[in-house]
Amino acid sequence: MNHSAFSEQPVSVMKGVGPKTRERLERLGIRNVQDVLFHLPLRYQDRSRIWPVGSLRPGDQVSIEVEIEHAEVHFGRRRSLLVRVSDGSGALILRLFHFSAAQQAGLAKGRRIRCFGEVRRGPASLEMIHPEYQPVEQCEDILDATLTPVYPTTDGLHQLTWRSLTDQALALLESSADGLREWLPDELLVESGLPTLTEAVCFLHRPSVEASLARLEAGQHPAQRRLAFEELLAHQLSLRKIRQLKQQHRAPRMSGDGDLMTRLIALLPFELTAAQQRVIAEIGKDMRRARPMLRLVQGDVGSGKTLVALAAGLIAIDAGYQVAMMAPTELLARQHLANLERLLRSLDIETDWLAGRHKGKRRERKLRALAEGETRFAIGTHALFQDDVHFQRLGLVIIDEQHRFGVHQRLALREKGRKGALSPHQLTMTATPIPRTLAMAAYADLDVSVIDELPPGRKPVVTVAIGDDRRAEVIARVSSAVGAGRQAYWVCTLIEESEALQCQAAEDTAAQLGEELPGARVGLVHGRMKAVDKEVVMQAFKQAELDLLVATTVIEVGVDVPNASLMIIENPERLGLAQLHQLRGRVGRGCADSYCVLLYQRPLGRQARERLSTLRETNDGFIIAEKDLELRGAGELLGTRQTGEVAFRIADLERDQALLPQAQAMADRLLADHPASVEPLIHRWIRQVDDYSSV
Ligand code: ADP
Ligand code: MG
Repeated sequence: MNHSAFSEQPVSVMKGVGPKTRERLERLGIRNVQDVLFHLPLRYQDRSRIWPVGSLRPGDQVSIEVEIEHAEVHFGRRRSLLVRVSDGSGALILRLFHFSAAQQAGLAKGRRIRCFGEVRRGPASLEMIHPEYQPVEQCEDILDATLTPVYPTTDGLHQLTWRSLTDQALALLESSADGLREWLPDELLVESGLPTLTEAVCFLHRPSVEASLARLEAGQHPAQRRLAFEELLAHQLSLRKIRQLKQQHRAPRMSGDGDLMTRLIALLPFELTAAQQRVIAEIGKDMRRARPMLRLVQGDVGSGKTLVALAAGLIAIDAGYQVAMMAPTELLARQHLANLERLLRSLDIETDWLAGRHKGKRRERKLRALAEGETRFAIGTHALFQDDVHFQRLGLVIIDEQHRFGVHQRLALREKGRKGALSPHQLTMTATPIPRTLAMAAYADLDVSVIDELPPGRKPVVTVAIGDDRRAEVIARVSSAVGAGRQAYWVCTLIEESEALQCQAAEDTAAQLGEELPGARVGLVHGRMKAVDKEVVMQAFKQAELDLLVATTVIEVGVDVPNASLMIIENPERLGLAQLHQLRGRVGRGCADSYCVLLYQRPLGRQARERLSTLRETNDGFIIAEKDLELRGAGELLGTRQTGEVAFRIADLERDQALLPQAQAMADRLLADHPASVEPLIHRWIRQVDDYSSV
């Protein structure tokens, strides 16, 4: 694209960028000049002037010019060199924990030095700990003319390199004909009072010394808002575009007589919750339309999503179509099969399942049944969507535990089910509740339904946090639960380097627990076991042939064993809130009181402590998700598998929440009135443009 030729030149056009640097930059996703321009400082320092010591307050990061009044080594809890300095307006202590003899000699009484550092409150007076310092006579007139940027970086790339790279990129920008092309319409820029893109970028790399550091630090400067806004806008546009393209497809209208649904309800030993009924109605409305449904159902663990999926399936089958329901793991696929088979059989619906392990004759037979339309309800892993799988009349695709699949897989799946002019309807389900703001940003291509109610009679899981010095008590607790005929999970969250080591460690834990709990039948599942073997263990646990199941986080999603009422999570401090909540959702499914013990390793960091106490305080997945967003930021919230989904370069969904409605409104306006800006904006901000254009 020649409209942005200068900005798309590779980084190697810049001085000092050889193969090594190029590779390091690549690690940060930086390939061209524009990427450098969009690599914004993490923070700034004001090295533009010398501050009077008398005016300093704790927290200030400043340069001072002072004379050394006194220096001595202090033998406290840690040996340190204390240097008392003053500039006539006030005095301050410089504190060094590591220092050489030469350094000590250089900091002698009467010397004049210039220091830069953060001011802190010390035991006796204000202090700077390990400031940068230089003798005054060696200082050039190096006071910076702008605030000094500090860039986020990676090993081997120093701040000076960043200074040079950004200097060069800014020079290229300045000498280019039209700078960074402005794609936002003038009227918006005027309306919002935001700077142009070029102004914003130039400013943020070299802010004037008058700029408010506090505002910059908070990410609230108009230049920062301008960039975040444009990025959010581009993201919205790309998702809208996906949706638009998809909605041009046609889908089968499904308006059966609801007979199967009536029969299902008669079969259930309980009533659907109001939330389940509402969501089923929303789905029914979608499926009666001639456009493909694109709906995400969010519901906390145990909210009964499986039945909602089944109800959607019945709508399709009633109308003469087939259903494919996909789960992220074979274990979950098997479990859906086990849960649904009985109901489906009672409704005379031919059901089958397909996984990677089905080979040869068996697979052929299964494929034929799908292609000939004999199998009406197919359950499986992504094996369901391999090239040789054909459906006779696929009308609905259901994807369970959607968060396990990235956006690209999601798109690929939509493509798969397409046959001729008709696309199947699509329902995705996730037990990872996503805060509203994040959902707006991440799923602008989907409609969202929320099952915001649990079936009646569920008791909240009582959660306690116990330090691992009290492991023996926890073992005793497991022992008495098992003695009372209940079952328990023991989750190992290991950080071993390789999966092999992780599984080895889980095996060790299982062996050790087996010894510590002589009366208990202990089983083990981990990621490296064969699916069949895992299945055998899971079935044994489900049938209460095992009392204690030691597991890695493979049991995170979906596993349903109502008699299990105790879960121990080892080293919960290593996991994110959402994942912990998912894990905990494995208990509290039956009528017994359920407990979750967070067996943590001391000492706990502040964030970890907050995470654990959030879990203790609430069982509500949505509150937990909000907290998670607050603690970790949006990028991580959906798990690493999904970083492609909401990996923003500049925007921060929590900080910039307020910009989202505006970005959405602007996306509508651009699509309607300035369609020519849409592609370039997406192209500028979103890497894998091809993925969506092929939908
Ligand atoms: P999830 O939303 O986590 O996938 P499931 O669909 O596995 O939850 O449902 C959890 C359990 O709740 C299952 O045993 C299911 O049979 C039961 N269940 C679902 N809906 C209801 C309801 N309306 N009343 C009582 N139990 C229900
Ligand atoms: Mg489920």
